[in-house]
Amino acid sequence: MSQRDPLLEAIARYPAPLIMTVVGLVGMPLTLWLFTPERAPARPETPVAISATAAPAATPTGTPVAAIAAATQDIALALPEQSPADALTVDTPASADPATSTEPAAAKLLEDAAATVPASTTVTLSAPSSANSAPSPAQSFVPAQGTHYIALIIDDIGYVDDLGARAVALPDDVTFAVLPHTPHGVALAQAAHDNGKEVMLHAPMSNLGAMPLGPGGLTPQLTRQEFVQTLTAALDAVPHLQGLNNHMGSELTALEEPMRWVMETLQGRRLYFVDSYTTASSVAGRIAREQNIPTLTRNVFLDNVQTAEDIDREFQRLLSLAREKGFATGIGHPYAATLDYLEKTLPTLAALNIELIPVSQMIALQQQATGAW
Ligand SMILES: [Zn+2]
Repeated sequence: MSQRDPLLEAIARYPAPLIMTVVGLVGMPLTLWLFTPERAPARPETPVAISATAAPAATPTGTPVAAIAAATQDIALALPEQSPADALTVDTPASADPATSTEPAAAKLLEDAAATVPASTTVTLSAPSSANSAPSPAQSFVPAQGTHYIALIIDDIGYVDDLGARAVALPDDVTFAVLPHTPHGVALAQAAHDNGKEVMLHAPMSNLGAMPLGPGGLTPQLTRQEFVQTLTAALDAVPHLQGLNNHMGSELTALEEPMRWVMETLQGRRLYFVDSYTTASSVAGRIAREQNIPTLTRNVFLDNVQTAEDIDREFQRLLSLAREKGFATGIGHPYAATLDYLEKTLPTLAALNIELIPVSQMIALQQQATGAW
């Protein structure tokens, strides 16, 4: 035991170096540990600094949401401007197709001015279709945003000179339907054309009320040859024709065969057909579409009752239909009350965002809207 380890003996004699070494070995890491930023005593500004760096970190998650919301709003706002046509709706011609009518037979006779078009199907206006390659009188028609369209036909033109002259002098694009072989038909058709108006033949067709048709009347009693000759003579008798609509016709327009003869005759002349729709049994519109004839069906008769109040009520109905569907077609007659009303009212349409267009343009617009006549 007397022999002691010389190292321990040296440490016992001079302990200071060992103590300092130990203090240094332990103290230095402890000091470093204590004063690293993470372990340093919290300074008041540190949490603020952390918070300040956290705030931008939250931004990337917030920004896209705001951007998407803003973008969505932009899209929602932009849609009506980018595709105004989508907002337009129209009556499909098929809606007036009596083949789908469930009305009892007794109710199907809606003589001339009394007939009304049944409730129609709404079709969203889509891009113009090129499916139908048949000639259209105005295939380039482009509807304007926010505008609703009406076509207005004044028919029964030809017998009365002064009222006829007043009619063809109406402002805007009223279309005139002229009875064949009438005393003033040719002169009024020429005057209408000279005024920039569209002209149609108002072809007399047999009715169930046995009312007289006048010259050029088409009846089921005619042979095919007589029928086509009569219609051709009527078409030749009126200048500047672009189409045809039926005068009366509650009997004839319900019959398929004569309607085919009508459409075949129109086809050869590239004329359109307007179904005046004097009976819910009319097959005329369907036969026209089957034979690829540009066609539309009348929506409103303006002057079944010839007072300012009744005409106004029907005219407002025409405008309502146009606002609801995008466009609508009315028929009036050269009555003093009708002319008084239209002379006063037509100049006010522009302020209502209603545009009066010729029948040929209305057919083109409807064709673009539905992809079919
Ligand atoms: Zn008529």
